[in-house]
Formats: sequence, structure tokens, C-alpha cells
Amino acid sequence: GGAIVGVEALMRWEHPERGPISPAQFIPIAEESGLIEPLGVWALTEAVRQLAEWRAAGQRLRMAVNVSARQFRSEGFVEAVARALHAHAIEPSCLELELTESALIDDRVQADRLLAELKDLGVLIAVDDFGTGYSSLSYLSGLPVDCVKIDRAFVTQAAKGGRDAAIVQAIVSLGHSLGLRVLAEGIETAEQLEFLSQQGCDEGQGYLFARPSPASGLGALLAAGRLGPNTIQEKQ
Ligand code: MN
Repeated sequence: GGAIVGVEALMRWEHPERGPISPAQFIPIAEESGLIEPLGVWALTEAVRQLAEWRAAGQRLRMAVNVSARQFRSEGFVEAVARALHAHAIEPSCLELELTESALIDDRVQADRLLAELKDLGVLIAVDDFGTGYSSLSYLSGLPVDCVKIDRAFVTQAAKGGRDAAIVQAIVSLGHSLGLRVLAEGIETAEQLEFLSQQGCDEGQGYLFARPSPASGLGALLAAGRLGPNTIQEKQ
């Protein structure tokens, strides 16, 4: 199996009476009300704290944290990132912030300034869910980003050939020619993994490797350090 190079922090809400509440339900409300700003800073800080714990235990991991457009542009966001890294003595290059295409494209002047500040700090930037927004490959060349994450929508059907395969090939090839890491989201089958490896895709994530889990549930996977071949064979 492949090496585990990182994890992505996902927000979940377990309500004391109503049970688990879907992020699809509470994230848009948090966005609209502005609560996403303190919530986002909490998530970022907690993710960095967890990363520090894993790294102290000898895990060489990268932590990816989703950042909403609103949070990205909120007052003091770059400072909050710097504070979280400093508080837990984490190398900035171990943190990757994931931003969507639209967050990066809207109000390009402000976005460029914020991206420059984040790059100065030394954190990595990934374009999340690539291909679903503006689907413009050309704008990528002007962005100071490190990684492009191919949206699951293309990954699902890519192994069957056709248009999605062509799109995946184009994204991998363009990403590499720009010197970016390319990661495929939503890998669920060995067939998909095989296709993406053949295309030269650098990294992948999805149910084939691991399901979303509380940090404590990752212990066994991390201790093994690799995604076992059994994980993949079971799915064939
Ligand atoms: Mn993401």
C-alpha cells in the first residue's frame, strides 16, 4: 500500500439531543450568520493541535484544513493561522489550507494579497474541488498555490474512460507543468486508484484508503504508517 502523507480535518457536529447534524445543514447557516469565522478559527486551531500531537508521536504528517471564502477574507485570518502554528510549534509547511476556486477568483486583488501573506507565512495552499467552479485551467497559472485537488465528480467515472478521463488527464498534466502536486478526491475503488496512478496523479484520498473518523480512530492506521494492501484488495 501507499504511504500516509497527510490527513484532512473535517468538521462534524454531534448534538446532545438531536444526534449528528450534517455539515451540509450547519455549514451554510454558519456561513450566512458569520459564525463560520469563530468556528473556522476553532477548527484550524484544533487541527493544528492534533497535528502537533501526532508529530510529537513521530508521525510525519501534513494537515489539510478547509477554509471558507468568508473566513479567508475575514479580518485577522492570516494572524489566526500564524497564532495557531506558533502556539503548537508547527512548521508552516506542514499545514495546507484548502480554498475553493471561487474563493480564489472573486475579488482577485484582495485574494492575491491574502494569498501572498499566507505564502509569506510558509503554509501550503490547495485548490479544493477543482473543476467544479470556473473550470478554467488557465487561471491556475497565476495563482501561488501548491496543490490542486481534483473534484470527486470526475474521479468517480474517470476509470471508465470518456470525458471525465480526459478532464482528469488534463488537470494532472497542467498541474504538473505548473509544478503543483495533484491529488484526487473521492477514490473509492481499486480501479480508480489504478487509473489515477497511471495518469501520474501524486496523491489520493477517499473511502478506499480510510473513512472519515475521529482523530482517535486513526491510531491503528497511523501506527502502521502505510495503507495496507488489504484495504485495496478487499474492494476488488
Ligand atoms: Mn477539502
